[in-house]
Amino acid sequence: MEIREMEIKGIKQLIPRYLKRRDNISLEKLEEIVDELEECDLPGEAKPKLEEIRPLIDGDLSYLRITDIERVEYDGYLYDLQVGDDPIFTANWLYAHNSMDAPLVMSSRIDPAEIDDEAHNIDIVSQYPHEFYEATLEMSDPESVNIQIGEDTLGTDEEYTGFEHTHDTSDIAMGPDLSAYKTLGSMMDKMDAQLELSRKLEAVDETDVAERVIEYHFLPDLIGNLRAFSRQETRCLDCGEKFRRMPLTETCRECGGRVNLTVHQGSVNKYMQTAIEVAEEYDCRPYTKQRLEVLEKSLESIFENDKNKQSGIEDFM
Ligand SMILES: [Zn+2]
Repeated sequence: MEIREMEIKGIKQLIPRYLKRRDNISLEKLEEIVDELEECDLPGEAKPKLEEIRPLIDGDLSYLRITDIERVEYDGYLYDLQVGDDPIFTANWLYAHNSMDAPLVMSSRIDPAEIDDEAHNIDIVSQYPHEFYEATLEMSDPESVNIQIGEDTLGTDEEYTGFEHTHDTSDIAMGPDLSAYKTLGSMMDKMDAQLELSRKLEAVDETDVAERVIEYHFLPDLIGNLRAFSRQETRCLDCGEKFRRMPLTETCRECGGRVNLTVHQGSVNKYMQTAIEVAEEYDCRPYTKQRLEVLEKSLESIFENDKNKQSGIEDFM
């Protein structure tokens, strides 16, 4: 919504700020905005933008509301396709999304601009300049020395060839078929392997790695699961009927069967202990440790049986 930033009277009211933070908008709301915009006295640069949005409303598209979402147990490879900047593409005339729908279309031509950004951020020079080594001694920011990376060649004749590299390959599809993430067993094993590697690498600060794993993986996972647990539905084990709340009769209102939770304790706090151990072992900041402690208390308050609390001898001393 760059139109929002333009000098148009009343634009801030017409396109509220919250729409900038969201990835979606209802069709009705979008239509309302576009209709109103067309009534406005628009600056020249807004017109082409509006033309781009217009087909979403009266173009050859139809919108279907999602009526049901079903989770399917699947154990095997899952492939993601990336086409263009956004991980969205059409498949069998439906808009599809990565890791959620089975992608049904494949691109026959590889455009380097369309592949994942991470691959653009790779050095492709044959050697580093002298100033690079000088900069390392000063612990400079990596961006402070200009080294040619894949991104620099996008859209030019050099985008397909001439990348210098350290390891040759004979096959474009070569690579590990099975990553250590799948062969290592428990989450603690995976963490140990990752942190063991960072311990060996001089350039990597293992405490920082541990902090990041806790902050970006464990904490959001635990918090998200806790939230899912508290807002879950219950389901009949016999006929599959779902209930917004546990029926007071404790049995299914449809068939009289047993009703059970759909999110279980085990799936909520499965990484709590691992996270605490990692924080302790890698000497994370007190702040991180305290966040884990607070979370552990929340988990306890939900899952601990109030009638049968576990106590230690020190509780009586
Ligand atoms: Zn039932």
